[in-house]
This record gives sequence, structure tokens and C-alpha cells, in this order.
Amino acid sequence: MRLVVLLALAIGTLTAQVKEYKPSRLNLFSKDQDVQLGKESADEVRKTMPIVDNKELVAYMDRIGQRLAKSKRAGGFPYTFEVLNDPTINAFALPGGPMFIHTGLIASVENESQLAGVLAHEMSHVSLRHGTSNVSKANLIQLPAMLAGQALGTKGGMLGTLGQLGVSLGAGSVLLRFSRDAEKEADLNGAQMMNDAGYDPNAMAIFFDKLNEGGKRDDSKLANFLSDHPTPGNRTKYVADQNKFLPKIKYSELDPQELTKAKAIIAKLPPPPKPAPAASTAAAPAGGGTTPTAQTRPSGQFKQHKGAAYAFNYPTNWEVFGDANASSVTVAPRATLVQDAKGNVQIGYGFMTSYYVPQDGKPNLQRDTAALLQQMAGANPGMRQTGNARAVKVGGLDALLSPFQSASPYQGQQETDMILTIARPEGLFYTVFIAPQSEWAGAQPAFDAVVTSLQFVK
Ligand SMILES: [Zn+2]
Repeated sequence: MRLVVLLALAIGTLTAQVKEYKPSRLNLFSKDQDVQLGKESADEVRKTMPIVDNKELVAYMDRIGQRLAKSKRAGGFPYTFEVLNDPTINAFALPGGPMFIHTGLIASVENESQLAGVLAHEMSHVSLRHGTSNVSKANLIQLPAMLAGQALGTKGGMLGTLGQLGVSLGAGSVLLRFSRDAEKEADLNGAQMMNDAGYDPNAMAIFFDKLNEGGKRDDSKLANFLSDHPTPGNRTKYVADQNKFLPKIKYSELDPQELTKAKAIIAKLPPPPKPAPAASTAAAPAGGGTTPTAQTRPSGQFKQHKGAAYAFNYPTNWEVFGDANASSVTVAPRATLVQDAKGNVQIGYGFMTSYYVPQDGKPNLQRDTAALLQQMAGANPGMRQTGNARAVKVGGLDALLSPFQSASPYQGQQETDMILTIARPEGLFYTVFIAPQSEWAGAQPAFDAVVTSLQFVK
């Protein structure tokens, strides 16, 4: 009897060393909203990325994933596992549980436990809700009202709502890019999850070490994984330190033939398709079809937007995205905000105002306009200037109007972009007016009204 009591005491002290990880309390989303956001985002991924349609391969990933999902450290989310035909070593999990595993990852692991280690790490980002916590921290002011609107059934869904905040699934998205602290939590929670599921948690540390070695060689196949999951220091050591305190169990893998078969399936896949250029894959505007409608055209009546730095009138049937304190606002009919293949929101019809801050010296209209236009053209391939900049006066201030043409998010159309620039003490103020080329003449009176109403606060 005495021996049993002692053992129990000993186990009690040992398990006390294993920290239990919990989601941050700073999260404005409910768990259900995580799931909803993940579902919508996964639909986008399926539309735009090469999903591997192979039942055997997917079933194998699912068996590994579901074994891990039973651990209480997986948070009870409805995990799903799909494979992307992509040779880079990566995997990502969306809030609420949809996970996508690159073929390059499966090809690079030495055993099933290493693969389970990456899945457990990704699943920990889901269960600890790192993605929606990131979004919450970055949008504390605007998000609560938007999420409340979501509950009332706003059009465009959760992803559309976040799109207004500039949150998308594009490269470097706050939904999928984590801090070093979050990485360490995901490692340690994931190692516990592996141990719960009967996978040797050391395999995770070994694989991450291998990735680090690759990272030092600048292996391009690793670039995305390492930028989304920055290395939080010595992974091998802290995972091994924690492992000492995890309850000892017998580790096992599924049939070892399975990984060999999975690798053979991957080796026979056709090469992944090249990503299509953004313009041709742009989704049709929500509710707008391929041409603007009477609801999206400027109404001819105006109301005022008053910001901290400037005020202007805009058409009553358009909306201002961005609050009064934002230096940058977008004004557009809701239906013309178009999401492209990368999840970035594009404006098909409307305008945006912002500041360009020159690197040095006092704002200079000619010089800074040239620098801004060059930067815009660089960021938007296919954008070209269609005429000389025209000097105009706006409220007594010197301004320039520069005409451009570029691909419209409305399918198959070109758009006209007119860029207004004004040198202000706080930087180069600019407005980009946007309309499909076929609509430009009709939109111009409304854009003129915006320009003439423009007022700077002091
Ligand atoms: Zn991570």
C-alpha cells in the first residue's frame, strides 16, 4: 500500500511539470465563429489551390489526424484533412479545423510520427485559437461591431467581414502567421497531443531540427513554412525537456507500408498547375455579376465622411470602410469589393484615400507623386499611365491628376484609375478613383463632387 501511495505522489509531482496550454482570453470570436471562418476560408482554398483527389492518400492523412484529434489538447474542433499538390514543405490549418497538407511535406518526412508532429503542431494553432486571437488583437476597435453584424447575417460571410479590415488568406495573413511565443505553445501542446495519441513526441523535435538545417541552406521549399512559423529557439531541447514529464506510454504508428504507399502516390501525381494570373482568376463581384448594376452606380446624392485629417462627400449608396481616425479609407458599394485568388480584396468601383509618406524631406508634389505612381505600378503588373499628369487646384491647393488603366476585377474588363495627389505637411495625400472603363464617363460627375468637397482639417 505504501508503495502505491508513494508512486501516486511521485506521478503527481511529475505531471505538475507539464503545463496545460489554454487559448488566450483575448479573442473576440466565439469557437463557433472560428469554425464558420474556417469553413468559408477552406472553400476559398479549394477554389484556388490544387487539391489532390486521391481517396487512399487522403484517408491515410485523416487516420493520422483523427487519432490526434481525440486528445483533449486538440480542443474538440471538427478537424478535416486534405492534401494540396504543392512540392514545398508545408501544411496549414485554418481556424476551427480545416487542414491542408502539402505533398512536399509528406514526401520529406522519414516516418509517420514526424508527419503526425507537424499535424499536431498545426492542430495546436487551431485549438489554442492563435489565428483569431491575432485578428482580435489587431482590430480591437472595429471588430466587435462587425462580428455583431455577422450574427445578424451580413452578406459576404465572415471572410467578407474580415476583408473589410484587410484580413485575408493572402501571403503573410495574420490568420496563418504566428509569433515565436505562439510557436512554442504549438510545439509543446502538440507534443502533449502526440503523446496522448501514442506518437513519440520526440519525432516532432527531430523533424523541426531537420527543417532548421534546411532553412540555414536557404532551401526554397521551406520558405513559407519558416515565415509562417518562426523558430522559437531551441525546439529540440524544450520539447525533449517536456517529454521527460509526459506519462510514459507505448508508442506506435499505423501500418509502416502506408507512408511508403503515400509517397508512391505523390511521386506519380502530375506536376502542380502554375498559379493562374490574378486578373483571370478574380471572382465575380458578389451579387454584381460581371457588370455593375444600378445599385452599385453612384446615386447622385451625397453625404459627408468626416475623418480626423480630412472630410469629403460621397454617394449615399456607397459605404465608407475604415473609421474616422484611419488615415486610409475605402469608399465603395459593398457588392463591388472583390476578393481575388489570393484572398486580397480588390475594389472594382469606388475610391480610396490614403497618405504616402516620403522617406525624407518635406512633401514635394512632383517628386512624391512620381515615387507613389512608380510604387503602385510596381505592385500592380499591367497598370499603365494613359496620359500626362494634369495640374489642378483643389480647395486652393496645388494637386495633380494622373490617369491610369489596369485590369478590372470585373471579369474581362479594363478599368480606369484616376489618381489625385496633394502635398500636405503630414505627407502626400492621394485618392484613387476606380471604375470599369465602360462606366467611367457615368461615374465622373460623382468623382468630381468628391474632389470638390474635399477639406483638410487644418
Ligand atoms: Zn506554427
